Amino acid sequence: AHLARIEAVDEKVNAFLHVDREGALAQARAVDAKRARGEKLGPLAGVPLALKDIFTTEGMPTTVGSKILEGWLPPYDATLTKKLKAADVVILGKTNMDEFAMGSSTENSAYGPTGNPWDLTKIPGGSGGGSSAALASFQAPLAIGTDTGGSIRQPAAVTGTVGVKPTYGGVSRYGMVAFSSSLDQGGPCARTVLDAALLHEAIAGHDPLDSTSIDAPVPPVVEAARNGSVEGMRVGVVKQFRGEGYQAGVIQRFDESVELLKELGAEIVELDCPSFDLALSAYYLIAPSECSSNLARFDAMRYGLRVGDDGTKSAEEVTALTREAGFGPEVKRRIMLGTYALSSGYYDAYYGSAQKVRTLITRDFEKAFEQVDVIVSPTTPTTAFPIGERADDPMAMYLADLCTIPTNLAGNAAMSLPCGLAPEDGLPVGLQIIAPAMKDDRLYKVGAAVE
Ligand code: GLN
Repeated sequence: AHLARIEAVDEKVNAFLHVDREGALAQARAVDAKRARGEKLGPLAGVPLALKDIFTTEGMPTTVGSKILEGWLPPYDATLTKKLKAADVVILGKTNMDEFAMGSSTENSAYGPTGNPWDLTKIPGGSGGGSSAALASFQAPLAIGTDTGGSIRQPAAVTGTVGVKPTYGGVSRYGMVAFSSSLDQGGPCARTVLDAALLHEAIAGHDPLDSTSIDAPVPPVVEAARNGSVEGMRVGVVKQFRGEGYQAGVIQRFDESVELLKELGAEIVELDCPSFDLALSAYYLIAPSECSSNLARFDAMRYGLRVGDDGTKSAEEVTALTREAGFGPEVKRRIMLGTYALSSGYYDAYYGSAQKVRTLITRDFEKAFEQVDVIVSPTTPTTAFPIGERADDPMAMYLADLCTIPTNLAGNAAMSLPCGLAPEDGLPVGLQIIAPAMKDDRLYKVGAAVE
């Protein structure tokens, strides 16, 4: 049924870069056969899923939305891919994304933009716009995203779906193509809080192949999702998450959510987190710095595309020609910014200062979580904007991540779930819930209560 749905609508939506029809059917039949033999089935047996094209899949294309990986077939599965297979999930295919996960609209994909199923002229968020659009257009009930600065939560918010950035280190990054390694985190996307929890449990857990993976039990997310409640909880509202740049309808729906939390028995606490105002600036130094280093591996020798290798050019020339042809403008912009910020003489002023701000933001969270159990905010300042509107204005695009970035810098957990439609445009608004590190279960407890 989902393959038929993909066939019917994806020409318009462009959520998928690759549909693995044969593989998905074979996997579904294998699950049926297991069931018939009375064998023990995985926890998500037979449930179809759309996988962001940033996770390696053995023998299935993995492009990361870039021309530079065109034609590359990974020789191994990411840990997350392996876990999905072990859970008996049916992987439908790979979803569209901003190139190397850099963007907030999926317009930076080398393979064309994805449409927002609520209005195909609007962006589905980014970088995981393919995954969020696949959910919102009922092409898949589950999807996987990655969140470096908001790429799970912002797409969830603008498509009326649920997305969770687990605690940094909660889900293995092994086989997830690196953008900014100290921020990157894979996580679950779904249409309900419980579905997200079931997927979260299937993909999380310690992985010795990822040196930043946390060696501790997975927080009890499914139990929390089944027992939604905010009774007696202290919920923080951060002063810095409103004001200029926020759409009136977004603030209206957010304020109603805060009222609902009160009605359900939560105590609301006003919080001041002054360093959050600096988060965007710090992020746009740290993320490009790490990207400039991570993307050095695309040298035309190891993977995918190779341009100009005609026997007359040096290896260096082939590398330069390949990177020139293979990377899009946003990726090049970030490599240049990052290389500059890391260069001798500028390192202390840019990268060094950004790291100090990162520490201040972490401290703001620590202080906040001495007073509250969770923090709530709008997920994004505005609803989905028109495709093309911010494409030539990187600064305007970067503002989409105003509320999501502090969490990535501090490494704690956050969820976005739908909280109604904005009255002015009828488009979905996202409510963000933020929890301390390794307290991911609180997201689900609160999310299930207000869903
Ligand atoms: N939009 C942000 C960026 O462009 C976040 C991306 C992400 O989370 N992968 O960097």
